[in-house]
Amino acid sequence: MIAEVIVDIAASETDKIYDYLCDDDIVAGSRVRAPFGGKTVAGFVMRVKEKSDYPVVRLKRVYPTPDELPALNPECLSLAEKLTARYRVPKALALRLFLPTEMRTGKVRELTRNYARLVCPLEEIKLAKTAKNQLGAATYLAEHGKTDCAYLNNLFAGGVSGLEKKGYVEITREQILRDPYKTLDREDKLHTLTPDQKRAVDTIKTDSRTVQLVHGVTGSGKTEIYLTLIADCLKEGKSSIFLVPEISLTPQMLAQLRARFGKNAAILHSGLSAGERFDEWWRLRTGEARIAIGARSAVFAPMENIGVIIIDEEHDSSYASETAPRYNTFDVAYLRAKTNGCKLVLGSATPSTDTYKRAKDGEFSLIRLDKRINQRPLPEIVIADMRREVRRGNNSAFSGALKEELEKCLAGGKQAILFLNRRGYSQTVICKECGYVAKCEFCDVSLTYHRDEDCLKCHYCGAKYGMLSACPDCGGKKLSYAGTGTERIVADLQKLYPAARILRMDNDTTSGKEGHYKILKTFAEKKADILVGTQMIAKGHDFPSVTLVGILDADMSLHFSDYRSGERTFQLITQVAGRSGRAEEKGKVVLQTFDPENDVLRFAIAYDFEGFYENEISLRAAMAFPPFSKIVRVLVTGEDDKKTIEALREVYIALEKLYTDNPEKFLFFNKMRAPIKRIQNKFRYQVLMRLCDTSVLPEIYAACAEARNRDVLVSVEENPTNLS
Ligand code: ADP
Ligand code: ZN
Repeated sequence: MIAEVIVDIAASETDKIYDYLCDDDIVAGSRVRAPFGGKTVAGFVMRVKEKSDYPVVRLKRVYPTPDELPALNPECLSLAEKLTARYRVPKALALRLFLPTEMRTGKVRELTRNYARLVCPLEEIKLAKTAKNQLGAATYLAEHGKTDCAYLNNLFAGGVSGLEKKGYVEITREQILRDPYKTLDREDKLHTLTPDQKRAVDTIKTDSRTVQLVHGVTGSGKTEIYLTLIADCLKEGKSSIFLVPEISLTPQMLAQLRARFGKNAAILHSGLSAGERFDEWWRLRTGEARIAIGARSAVFAPMENIGVIIIDEEHDSSYASETAPRYNTFDVAYLRAKTNGCKLVLGSATPSTDTYKRAKDGEFSLIRLDKRINQRPLPEIVIADMRREVRRGNNSAFSGALKEELEKCLAGGKQAILFLNRRGYSQTVICKECGYVAKCEFCDVSLTYHRDEDCLKCHYCGAKYGMLSACPDCGGKKLSYAGTGTERIVADLQKLYPAARILRMDNDTTSGKEGHYKILKTFAEKKADILVGTQMIAKGHDFPSVTLVGILDADMSLHFSDYRSGERTFQLITQVAGRSGRAEEKGKVVLQTFDPENDVLRFAIAYDFEGFYENEISLRAAMAFPPFSKIVRVLVTGEDDKKTIEALREVYIALEKLYTDNPEKFLFFNKMRAPIKRIQNKFRYQVLMRLCDTSVLPEIYAACAEARNRDVLVSVEENPTNLS
């Protein structure tokens, strides 16, 4: 037999179908080892046929990889082909979306791990004061006993091996049984559906449209609707895909799913170890697990016979991929729903303007849930006018109203959440004498001061720099810290309320698989009074004791130069506010702003989604912004500025021709430097377009595929969520 093979090399030169001889029992979707250019490489069988157009003597032979089942099922194969055509990426790249990386790199089913253990008491360990990581690791081991080396290395790079060399630590290799969430409490609250929930489930099942939008206020019980749909599919022997924005942030949801579906659910997400991810994926492929739960990449889960696909928090920006192929999760889910003849359920308290328009136009079914479970009221949102605070001489991050509410909340033994979407201590460090701003060497952005570690960090590439004692330009000693971050908020709060127990949750405090979980658990057990955090606290958490939410800077996301900033702000406020008053006690929200007259804020505090939408959609129509047009950005990036500009020129010439040949299809066309000129040492340029007719899209993708090369990345972004 002859196999048509794609070799697993993501380059345009090798992006072809190659014919090979193969055994008779090989089927499409199998992985093979193929001799290729003097080496043996991994490949995928796309099709099996009787004859080749090439003479048989010239064909080489492929050997099957010993998988128990072909890695890709027919649906996934055909989906990969569609994605290749749509996004013009090498086929190997599209195929990779469907497989766990561990499978491709051969690090499969590794079931042992290294553990470290102290061999003497901590007091007997003699280390130099500068050996911080060794000291840290030793102290950790003394407190926690035997610990996974990989975990320790995450916390204290190189610490364990240093200790081992000195003979303080013994390392053993041990067999492990992977159960990613064995430490989660298995709790489940089975509920009888309310009439609203029942109506939603019935509509989803009986309505003829593929896409079902559940627009339900926060706390209206959307999760229970999803779980009911999934359970019903399971009963019919069908599988389900359940997508959530950031599953690692919502351990409560995980625990609930595990409790209800046990081994039938497989959870795919980046927080798992390589082996765990592989095991979970494989359980789905074999059908042992029929429910795939995960972030956007779980839309590629290797399931068959799908009964429902659910996208929770459908408006969330994490559903747009930021690496090639830059697929849109909705589009992939829609294709799969169509192929499987099943429903695609979207859920949100604040649907995206685009989705909501399609629902109102009747393309999607629209199901509303206007009330919280048990008729609990939505928390009252009051505005604190920060201009007035400044006039009164209050330059702190806390308004009088917020302090008053905080005091009440603490006195009553309740809990509060304070939200600020900026981590670190202060956003920038500026020299007061010459105006110098500390910037990253590799990125064109200013550095954030982190007081914990007394260092400057780049939030784009993660680079760390020692704190400055003087201005490197003028030698001035007066450095000012501008822009407050979460770290500073905690420090200021602690001064105001010395007795309060305060937790901080942001990218700096949540390393490790269970980093989020630990903080949330401490808070849920009421071992802390105030939780301060970035947007990671906005999502999905259900803390019954929280009666106060403070939004410290509601303006921050309003003034991004992005057509979606209004929508984003409305969503964020609604999400964060939804964390307050979820149980018996009524909740309150204090929203601090310098722009209290702003339309978006006014609609948000009134929970007037409909009003917000009408306002927003008429603005978009007037400005011809999406969904009335499509914004397309071609981003050209590379380390060598000259080569990058050359590629930019090449793609620009092709696009400009497209533009001059079809002026009626374009509303806007321009090339420029990207707003951030350099990130991670890569120069960045862009061609920005706004289309009123998307029939030129395939040609835009083609032009970019043509211009990209080994040194320069040329990518197409449709309605990008991030224009930096
Ligand atoms: P949403 O996802 O819409 O924000 P949740 O699914 O988190 O809302 O539900 C809010 C709360 O209501 C949760 O604590 C949940 O356990 C509870 N709940 C959901 N459905 C029911 C029901 N039918 N009866 C009683 N409580 C319910
Ligand atoms: Zn940087």
